[in-house]
Formats: sequence, C-alpha cells, structure tokens
Amino acid sequence: MSRGIYVVGNWKMYKTAQQAADYIDELDPAAKTSSISVYLAVPFTSIHPAARAAKGTHLVVGAQNMNDAQEGAFTGEIAALMLKEAGAEFVILGHSERRRLFGETDAFIHKKIQRALKDGLRPIVCVGEDAQEREERLTEDVLKKQIAECLASLDEESMKQVVLAYEPVWAIGTGKSATAEIAESAHAFCRQCIAELYGEETAELIPILYGGSVKPDTVTHLIEQPDIDGVLVGGASLDPKTFSEIVLNSESVK
Ligand code: PEP
Repeated sequence: MSRGIYVVGNWKMYKTAQQAADYIDELDPAAKTSSISVYLAVPFTSIHPAARAAKGTHLVVGAQNMNDAQEGAFTGEIAALMLKEAGAEFVILGHSERRRLFGETDAFIHKKIQRALKDGLRPIVCVGEDAQEREERLTEDVLKKQIAECLASLDEESMKQVVLAYEPVWAIGTGKSATAEIAESAHAFCRQCIAELYGEETAELIPILYGGSVKPDTVTHLIEQPDIDGVLVGGASLDPKTFSEIVLNSESVK
C-alpha cells in the first residue's frame, strides 16, 4: 500500500502575482518535476499566474480558503468554482489561523469540505491542538472531535479525496517542530479516528501530512515515520531554494 508523499507549501498572505511567477521560475528544475506530489497553496490573486507558470511541470497549484456556498451575496468571499477556473486543484481548509483569527468552527469547515468536493477541489483539512490543550493532555480529545465534526458523513468516494494535515498549533510559525515521534503518535491516532468513521481500508488510503516549523533538515526523519505521508510547510516554503531542498530531501526517503 502506498499513499505517496506530499510536500505542500502554504504561502499565507505573501507574494504578489509577479512574485509568484518568479518563484516558480526559481524552483529547482528537479523539484518542479519531482515524482512526489508537490503542491503550492498561494494567495487568490496568484493562482492564475502560478498555474500558468507551472504549466509543463508537475507542480499543483491551490488555494488557502474558500466559502461554503456555490455563489451568492457574500461580499469579499470566493467560491470553489472561481478558484478552479483560475487554476486551483486543491484548497487548504480549517487552518488554525482561520480557526483562531477568523472564528471558523468545525461545522463551518465541514460545509466547506463538502462544497470543495462537490465543485472539484481536493480539500487538505487541518486539525491540531494548541499548547494548552497539549499541556492538559487533551490532544487526542481535540483531534477526535475535529476529525469527527469536520469529516462527518462524507460518502466513501468523497472521503478518499481528502488529505488530512496534523498541525499542532504550538508548532506553527514558532520554530518548535514536533519531534517525529510525537508527530507519528498523533498521526497514528488520526488514522485510527478515520478508521472508526470510515473503516480500516479507507483510513489506510488517506494521506496525513505533518505541519509545524518543518525545515529541510527535519523533513526526512518526519517522512520516515509510517503514518506521516508528507508535510505542510509555511515559512520555509517562501524561499524557492529552501522549498526545493525540502522537496528533494522528501523525495529521497521512499
Ligand atoms: C502552516 O502555516 O501551515 C505552517 C505549517 O507554518 P510553518 O511551517 O511556518 O510552521
């Protein structure tokens, strides 16, 4: 059984359209044609130029958020179909910055996941505990609740499109990555939660990525773990050379 390896860059609110195209030109040619899955989640205005710059490579371009409605009077929001037409193939949903800064709930994230799947975008769904929850030994309770509420009642075929990302909030943007052992234990637990909802066979098919201060020198040991199928990279994805290194180090693992 092979779920493959994913390296996903999350640029957050960085890089204009021009900077996005320049970045893709500057990526290592071997990273651009890697045999692993290399995804870039870029700002809305950079989706089209990034997708155009990525033509002829293996890079996959996506978004970092979307609305749950197909269309409507939702000033300032963006729909999955708009992202798709611009060139997005996936969308990050439930990132902790969206939960914490914009009040997104598991119920809302669930609706977005359903919309993404319906309108042809692959959702990368983020879950993870904060520092206090870890300290209070609530990590498994938090993960179980987030997984159950975000991924409830999807049909089996839709569920197989989902990518899960375990992103402990205390590790995001802090330089304090989870150790590979801590991350593996959380990933194995996430897979068990999916198995309880959808069965062992489906759980074995779902890629689970680790996110939180991943760097070129930490990625290898993370990806060597049996339940870690790749990484979601924020800060270290902003520099094309560093991101290329992460891709090439990941490719060397399996
Ligand atoms: C993220 O924003 O998803 C993330 C993992 O950020 P960083 O790599 O900077 O911790």
